[in-house]
Amino acid sequence: MRLEDNPCLLAIQKSKQPALFVYIYDDIESKAIGEAGHWWLHESLKKLEFSYTSKFKAQLIIKKGNADKILDELIKKYKITHVLWNRLYSPPTIQRDTKIKQALQNQNIEVETFNGHLLNEPWEVQNNAGQYFKVFTPYWRKAFEVYQSKNYKVRELKDLKVLDHKEKTSWNFLPNKTWYQKFDQYWVPGEKAALEKAENYIQTDLTIYKEARDRPDLDCTSKLSPHLRFGEISPRTIVSKILNSKKMSSSVLTYLSEIGWREFSYSLLYYSKNLSAIPLNEKFQKFPWRKNSQDFQLWKNARTGIPLVDAAMKQIYQTGWMHNRLRMVVGSFLVKNLLLNWTLGEQYFQETLLDYDEASNAAGWQWIAGCGADASPYFRVFNPILQSERFDPQAQFILKYLPQLQSLQKPSSIFQPYLQEQEFKSLIDQNLYYPPIVDLKDSRNRALEAYQQIK
Ligand SMILES: Cc1cc2nc3c(=O)[nH]c(=O)nc-3n(C[C@H](O)[C@H](O)[C@H](O)COP(=O)(O)OP(=O)(O)OC[C@H]3O[C@@H](n4cnc5c(N)ncnc54)[C@H](O)[C@@H]3O)c2cc1C
Repeated sequence: MRLEDNPCLLAIQKSKQPALFVYIYDDIESKAIGEAGHWWLHESLKKLEFSYTSKFKAQLIIKKGNADKILDELIKKYKITHVLWNRLYSPPTIQRDTKIKQALQNQNIEVETFNGHLLNEPWEVQNNAGQYFKVFTPYWRKAFEVYQSKNYKVRELKDLKVLDHKEKTSWNFLPNKTWYQKFDQYWVPGEKAALEKAENYIQTDLTIYKEARDRPDLDCTSKLSPHLRFGEISPRTIVSKILNSKKMSSSVLTYLSEIGWREFSYSLLYYSKNLSAIPLNEKFQKFPWRKNSQDFQLWKNARTGIPLVDAAMKQIYQTGWMHNRLRMVVGSFLVKNLLLNWTLGEQYFQETLLDYDEASNAAGWQWIAGCGADASPYFRVFNPILQSERFDPQAQFILKYLPQLQSLQKPSSIFQPYLQEQEFKSLIDQNLYYPPIVDLKDSRNRALEAYQQIK
């Protein structure tokens, strides 16, 4: 969803040939974008259409349906001889695109594909035994080395020759539920906004990233994730901007390593069968998850009675985004304290996150559940009260989303309202808050016992 640092467009520029510019939305694409993400897609496409027309007088073709059929029709109609695209990495997209590539080549159509989404292709980063990395630190050491050795320069797109067409131009990707209407209070999709946000971030909060990134109350991470997800900015552009700014520091290195986690997740997506459904650690196939739709519903509806968890679940529903520390806290609460299968959480995030990304979301949930690559050990159960004390010490984040807890006054009381007998009773009587759905200590022990069964 961008013009800058788009290798496919640069190749078209170099060829000096007139081209059609096409976005195809098929079944696989529709599954890779969650409900909230459809709002972003819609807005981002509007911006992209505008960029094509205003810069190159090109009318973007947007189509819904089978990719192979649509390409076939366009190729015949406009006598196309070359087809170019930027690669995707999930097994179903690879399968689809390989089939399309073979079919096109059989008709003597030339096909070229590029890396537009990552610093490195997954197969470029392997260990000495020629295998993919399953541990992050050595992965990132190698990956950054490989990336730097390419000496990559972001090049400017100046000129595109356009093939005229008469394709229909009406489309709509907005979700059926109108809950998306609030997202534009928080977000501006599109390449221009993404570039401005990255520039601004590098000049400001990047310098405090290392110390402050775990604090949801300080809200000082870059919020570039949905822009990266929809390819409105490339990781190479972000890294180049950072390296050019010459502000190398421990905060910069930490930030770069987070971009590294995104790369690592893509490597896992590429090399696994089905990252969002099958635990990488096979032992977890037999994990005795509870089945309890009521608890799952209470978790989704921000009614667990644990303020940090509930405030975070309100954040995701209201803004389409959740702070990384809180993704870990609510994830741990779901899979450990409630002992519910991590795939349920993965699916809920899929629906509600604007930055929902097949690789990072599945890898994040597998990490939380302890079944992923380089995962948090299962016995590490996040205690949401300690997490509140450390990462939201004045309860500012909690109060932003649960202002009704203001009457409890002290942060320590806001973290655990149920310990304040009188005030808590009044909150419950007024239907303003709820008792905890599990005892944190007992549920932790229950999780550890369950883990013993598969060890
Ligand atoms: C259970 C769980 C689910 C997650 N689901 C997603 C998801 O669907 N999409 C997504 O983009 N990220 C996901 N993450 C990773 C992370 O939470 C988000 O990338 C981050 O919160 C986005 O905010 P930001 O752009 O301000 O991040 P920053 O802290 O500013 O980081 C910069 C960029 O680095 C990347 N990044 C940072 N942390 C991670 C990480 N742990 N894993 C992979 N990439 C990372 C993102 O692209 C991010 O935009 C998930 C993490 C967990 C624990």
